[in-house]
Amino acid sequence: YFSTVPQAPPDGILKLSVLSRADSDPSKVDLGVGAYRDDNGKPWVLPVVREAERRLNEDPNYNHEYMGVGGLPALTDGAQQLIFGSNSPAIGQGRVYTIQTISGTGANMVAAVFLKQFKRPADAAVYISKPTWGNHRSIFETAGHEVREYKYCNYKTLTLDIDGMLDDMRSAPEGQIFVLHACAHNPTGIDPTEEQWQQIADVMSERGHFPFFDCAYQGFATGDVDRDAYAIRLFVDRGFELLVAESFAKNMGLYGERTGCLHAVCQSSDVIPQVSSQLNRLSRATISTASAYGAKIAATVLQDPRLYEEWLQSMQDMSQRIKTMRDALRDKLVALGTPGSWDHVSQQIGMFSFTGLSKLQVDTLRNQYHLYMTDDGRISVAGLNSHNIDYVAQSIDAVVRS
Ligand code: PMP
Repeated sequence: YFSTVPQAPPDGILKLSVLSRADSDPSKVDLGVGAYRDDNGKPWVLPVVREAERRLNEDPNYNHEYMGVGGLPALTDGAQQLIFGSNSPAIGQGRVYTIQTISGTGANMVAAVFLKQFKRPADAAVYISKPTWGNHRSIFETAGHEVREYKYCNYKTLTLDIDGMLDDMRSAPEGQIFVLHACAHNPTGIDPTEEQWQQIADVMSERGHFPFFDCAYQGFATGDVDRDAYAIRLFVDRGFELLVAESFAKNMGLYGERTGCLHAVCQSSDVIPQVSSQLNRLSRATISTASAYGAKIAATVLQDPRLYEEWLQSMQDMSQRIKTMRDALRDKLVALGTPGSWDHVSQQIGMFSFTGLSKLQVDTLRNQYHLYMTDDGRISVAGLNSHNIDYVAQSIDAVVRS
């Protein structure tokens, strides 16, 4: 029965983690994994998460009962306010429905299946940026969509190809689904400016396209959760109906707890019963009820004003350390006189930098210098620290010169 099952293509990131884990050289630097590390290269449990866990552990009423299909209301309410703003008219008008999901990936999948069943026109394709998070294509194709790409990165200048992006949006048939990274674009670290987001909204509106925002890094881009939600709030203010996938993996450091939400913003509260019933049905068919532990932690942080403030500060600390590492890498490459321009490393946003290194250079760095990054030259800047930055800069310098 199983002998006819073809081999699935390898997943680049997962393959990279296996290679990196197997490398015991003391000089090894893992810049592959998209997870925050402290200055000693260690995972960081946010103090507010520790505090929330302590409260849960000490709660005599804590239990492991099933949660509701829609998830934990304290989480879904808090998550709504985080994304759309506490004064959001759309929330006030009761036209946002939020369902808890298995982190950002689960939110993408629920959205993908929902859109496959209800998209209008029924043959609309899903457009993803070139390049994008490797899983986007896989998720939307698995759900049965035709997936196409829109231009995003100018690979020569490592800047946003805004004209190419807008042209592709204009020339696509009306009513297509566009996957947009809300902030901290993965893998490029290149985000549209506020003016460019307005142009994108103009064209999407003219063409009747449907926006699906993937928001996996709120708080990581600028350290300011409201600024990082600019694009989503702009589209809501412009009157779009849309979906937003939200992940608490990075900004709360809850990676393995799989905590996230999917939000549907509708034109009117009248359609919320229909939309919520379908989202609940899809979630019920896949996970039955939402997962509890991460949701309880995140809800505690979102609902307690003191913990919330402290969390905002932790996000600033994480994004500031990443920014410091960006500048340090750029400065060191400039000081070494490494051929090429390295300003993009410090200008890019979020967890990643698209270095512009070629596949050959990436392979050499991996095989000769024990430095791991994805084949497209993306590094997780969070993997840099004061102990390995000199080695990383020197290795890049040597490989670029050879
Ligand atoms: N979307 C994007 C763009 C991402 O980079 C990620 C994390 N790598 C996710 C979604 C989903 O992550 P998770 O399922 O861990 O929340």
